[in-house]
Amino acid sequence: MDRDRFENWLRNIYETEEQEISCTECFDLVSHFVELEVSGQDAAARMSQLKQHLNQCRACRDEYETLRDLRLVEEQGGMPSPDDLQDLIR
Ligand SMILES: [Zn+2]
Repeated sequence: MDRDRFENWLRNIYETEEQEISCTECFDLVSHFVELEVSGQDAAARMSQLKQHLNQCRACRDEYETLRDLRLVEEQGGMPSPDDLQDLIR
């Protein structure tokens, strides 16, 4: 870990203790987090409080993983076709 990262890391710890986000805020922000991640940016560094909440909160992590999976499917050539969905249901 280099010095800048270490300082960032320390700052994140202190900041998140003072202003933890709620599930409601997490829910509002999580789609933005996924967008950053899908576009190849360092979402965890830019939104460290959200990331922290995701680490601690199972419900929000599930929400995040669902959203992310949906976005990744979209990125990889769109939603499944109706035929594919029917195969899944069967
Ligand atoms: Zn939560």
